[in-house]
Amino acid sequence: MIPVITIDGPSGTGKGSLMQLLAQRLGWHALDSGALYRALAWAALRRGVDLADAPALAELTRDLLLAFRDGRVWLDGEDISDAIRTEEVGMAASRVAAHPQVRAALLDWQRAWARPPGLVADGRDMGTVVFPEAQLKIFLDADPKVRAERRYRQLKEKGLSASLRQLILDIQARDARDRTRSSAPLCPAQDAIVIDSSQMSIPEVFERVLAEVRR
Ligand code: C5P
Repeated sequence: MIPVITIDGPSGTGKGSLMQLLAQRLGWHALDSGALYRALAWAALRRGVDLADAPALAELTRDLLLAFRDGRVWLDGEDISDAIRTEEVGMAASRVAAHPQVRAALLDWQRAWARPPGLVADGRDMGTVVFPEAQLKIFLDADPKVRAERRYRQLKEKGLSASLRQLILDIQARDARDRTRSSAPLCPAQDAIVIDSSQMSIPEVFERVLAEVRR
């Protein structure tokens, strides 16, 4: 069986950075499943597909020529890595992701990432739905205010303007939708190790998880 480590949790907890560090250290593949939902949302926005139209969105997933290469995300040959990182696309991704039909259409694509020598997968339902047999499941959480402040600093570093108040509201709205949707709601798997990263740096979280990997 191919070894899989899952990292789930709400946005802004450092899941992505943790996934990259672990995948690098272990020499395993890395799946950023959020990018998949973001790419779908981005394509829907661009093509004028209604974000409430589940059958049309599921159909769209079958048409998408999506590739993850060299740390970049490509859609139909276009590099969309930066375009999908906006708050607008994040919010649209969470609307698209609420449809069970859409989630079902993306399952096989995600499972195909479990290839030798192993996979580190980051998302919301990696440990509960996509890889329920994973050897190690991490659920990374953090205070919404701390997450909004991290996001605020990232945007400032990029020279982008942002309102901290608005970021907190956006994070709370996205969390609420992710946690209450009927299909694969965001919650820790029963056998997940829950880590609250509010007061921890990424290297600290990495060391904590590495200790679990070595167990
Ligand atoms: O992790 P990221 O912020 O990029 O994810 C964007 C949105 O995609 C999330 O708010 C969530 O609604 C959705 N998502 C999901 N299941 C995943 C990954 C992301 O529902 N496995």
